[in-house]
Amino acid sequence: MPSAEMFDMALLYILLLAAIALGWTLGYRFANQAKKTDYPDWIPSVDYILAESNDASLEKLLKVDHIDDDSVDLFLKLGKSLRDKGEIDRAMHLHQRLFARADLDRSVIHSIQLELAYDYSAAGLLDRAERILRELLEAKGHNNERVAALLIELLEEEGEWRDILELYTSKKLPGGVELGRRVAHAACELAERSLKKGEYLEVQKLCRQSLKIDGRCARAHVVSGNLAYGQQEYREAVRCYLKAAETDQQAVVRTLDKMIDAFTKLNDAEGLLAQLQKQWSDSHYIPALTAFIETLATEKNSSDAAVRLLKELESSPSNQGFLTLAELVVTHRQSLDKSQLLQVYDILRRIVAAEPKFVCSNCGFKAKEPHWRCPSCKDWATVKAYVPQPPISK
Ligand SMILES: [Zn+2]
Repeated sequence: MPSAEMFDMALLYILLLAAIALGWTLGYRFANQAKKTDYPDWIPSVDYILAESNDASLEKLLKVDHIDDDSVDLFLKLGKSLRDKGEIDRAMHLHQRLFARADLDRSVIHSIQLELAYDYSAAGLLDRAERILRELLEAKGHNNERVAALLIELLEEEGEWRDILELYTSKKLPGGVELGRRVAHAACELAERSLKKGEYLEVQKLCRQSLKIDGRCARAHVVSGNLAYGQQEYREAVRCYLKAAETDQQAVVRTLDKMIDAFTKLNDAEGLLAQLQKQWSDSHYIPALTAFIETLATEKNSSDAAVRLLKELESSPSNQGFLTLAELVVTHRQSLDKSQLLQVYDILRRIVAAEPKFVCSNCGFKAKEPHWRCPSCKDWATVKAYVPQPPISK
């Protein structure tokens, strides 16, 4: 074995390892800068290795006669570490030079191309990144899932929803729950666009497609509901909104207003009350509680509404809930008896006890005790009395 070549390889390993280790150390140090600001300045950085000891040393590394799998891994880690530090041009240069080598095998080339795609995407060269990723996807290499995920991310950035759906329908994407969820949302984006343009058949088609791709996509039910609502088909709208809530309890934040209106148009107060109660207890979305109490006060009587609201506030106290209580008193002229007032007093006392009394003006850390030194950011005399957001004056 020629010793010169072995020496080259050994040197390559050491330099790469040092560069990567220092890159990580630096990253760690920056993350902990607040704790530790002085460190010995004799430790060189990746920048130093690649800049001060000039680009020639990188060229030298790249010109080594033979690169085996382990050193490829190291090169790729070095490239990633450069990119993470914002040295995108250098990362790109490194990857391009590796890519130009004729002695690497296919799977290695694929890994390098993927890194190049990450570089281009970080540099804002989205077209170039997209071209590489599409090529890689066709090649169906070992990193196909990462390729697909990055390509979809780019297309999402560019709002190319149709392209995403086409990748899926032409069976170019690897399977997987996460990708399916994203494709289903792409279909919903298209459906919402079509809804705005009044292409109703297209909306229905896309919503069905979205649900076929991902049965857990509540958004498809929401869009279907909005389509029906827009066409004054309130029964159908309600059906879709309930389906959405069944699929995802948080869907109520998207459907509440239209759902209330649809039930009202159908003259179905009982149905509305049952749904509001259920969706409030499933989602804990306070506007659902507010709507439930208001409907109860209007449709039944305000005394029941007050009893019910106090019961809910006891387990989930909120300012918005108290506002609703005040509205019962003001708008519906509902008075509270002595035991109800005691109940209000007790709930408010618990809210105040849970409130922070002090807050750090430097990092926002909230505390119940005063501190000279902030336990979070370690700064001195920054913990001040907590002042709740001052109300906007009329
Ligand atoms: Zn602090």
